[in-house]
Amino acid sequence: MNFIVFLGAPGSGKGTQAQMLASEYNLEHISTGQLIRDEIKESTEFGFRLERECLSGNLISTEDIFNLLGKKIKELSIDRQVILDGFPRTLDQAKLLKDFTEKTGNQLEKVVCFDIAGEALIERLTGRFMCADCGAVYHKHHNSPQQDGVCDFCGSENFQVRPDDAEEVVKKRLDVFHEETKPLVSYYDAQGVLFRLDATQSVESIKKTLLKNIKLVAAE
Ligand SMILES: [Zn+2]
Repeated sequence: MNFIVFLGAPGSGKGTQAQMLASEYNLEHISTGQLIRDEIKESTEFGFRLERECLSGNLISTEDIFNLLGKKIKELSIDRQVILDGFPRTLDQAKLLKDFTEKTGNQLEKVVCFDIAGEALIERLTGRFMCADCGAVYHKHHNSPQQDGVCDFCGSENFQVRPDDAEEVVKKRLDVFHEETKPLVSYYDAQGVLFRLDATQSVESIKKTLLKNIKLVAAE
């Protein structure tokens, strides 16, 4: 098995790219956020515990995430190429992944870092707003209502910003992210597997750059 790690802040577009590559080129896309949500949905003992952690605002421990990941990887056939999205997030997790790949004879092919400046991210993330009545989601720069101040779907004139997208909250999330991942970037750079990508480009040109720089293993 051959792993490609996508590193990038919330809003950097790495999830979108992972999804596109996975469906068009038959790669496996493992998002740890999705694994956690799936486990919670299955209502297992483990899922209940994860849910409690999430609700109390704690980060899920490395051990728990790694268990979920291990379970998922075991289900995959050995010749798969896998995009890891959301793992590793810390240096400890990166070392765990290294041990795992070495022990199991798998390979870490490439680590792609989606570079985007804080300012641009804040603009992407904070531009979102929604209709307070029907919940339709808009963005002030690239998806605003056809008639200014009036919801396309229900005609309401009441709009609100999601609490998650408030500028202060977004800044906090980005700070935490950069603090955690900076050591990771140097770690992978030193190993010669890092590829830095300008994530301010369009979705299409990012995809082209990725295809040029990632060696895709032909899969059936
Ligand atoms: Zn509406």
